[in-house]
Amino acid sequence: MGLVSGKTALVTGSGAGIGRATALKFAEEGANVVVSDIDVSSGEETTELIEKAGGHAAFIKADVSDPSDVENLFDAIEKSFGSLDCACNNAGIEGNVAPTIDQTIENFDAIMNVNVRGMFLCLQSEIRHMRKNGGGAIVNLSSVAGLIGFPGLSPYTASKHAVNGLTKNAALEYGKEGIRVNSICPGGIDTRMLDSLADQSTAGTQTSHQMMDPLHPIGRIGQAVEVAELIVWLCSSRASFITGTNIPVDGGFVAQ
Ligand code: NAP
Repeated sequence: MGLVSGKTALVTGSGAGIGRATALKFAEEGANVVVSDIDVSSGEETTELIEKAGGHAAFIKADVSDPSDVENLFDAIEKSFGSLDCACNNAGIEGNVAPTIDQTIENFDAIMNVNVRGMFLCLQSEIRHMRKNGGGAIVNLSSVAGLIGFPGLSPYTASKHAVNGLTKNAALEYGKEGIRVNSICPGGIDTRMLDSLADQSTAGTQTSHQMMDPLHPIGRIGQAVEVAELIVWLCSSRASFITGTNIPVDGGFVAQ
């Protein structure tokens, strides 16, 4: 019996990185997984990986920052699965690295559109679905940049602080209806996004491992599956008294 057996779980941005690892982990723990991504081929690849491993998954394309895509996503979930028990709002972008005064308004808007507006749109739809079924659990992808500042990343840092605020508010508003909402705050995780951040920050002179491993007290960056473990556990009944939190999964990064 898996941690989330028989439940339906949505993971946005699950064509790659932490989202893909989370979709695979949900399936391994018994959930029917709704894989969603802006990119069709990577989303379908995640779905195939789940099915090859003996799990159940369906792919629905959606750009989380587009209200009509989000509406279609939740209509399709309603039609195909009926209920939604677990949701991981993972889709996010890092944007450009530059000091605050050199950041463009286009970069600021692009990051806020996906990381905050997209998260807000999905959160609204998830809560509407879950309250009809008598409850559910939601995990939002924040970051250690949602807890502390990061020079060069002001729009991203602002967006992840906003994610933590959205999380606390939703937890307070819907806790009595059986909906738990938490955010998790990963440190450096070995994905395309971290490669991009290392590349931009060091002008291509260092890999993400070279730049980020020594910055983590545990001596290395994390793997996507180490984040997925926490997400699926938070969505399970084992985490029944946990809501409104912003939990680091960061190899000790914010303890420094
Ligand atoms: P990633 O490897 O870049 O994967 C992100 C996935 O989301 C990609 O499949 C991407 O598709 C998709 N996506 C991007 N924009 C989207 C949109 N508008 N709608 C739907 N899907 C979209 O990133 P990751 O490292 O796994 O990051 C996942 C989450 O964890 C993000 O919220 C990120 O901020 C957070 N996080 C990551 C780290 C880290 O070190 N990696 C640390 C802290 C927090 P395309 O590739 O086609 O764009």
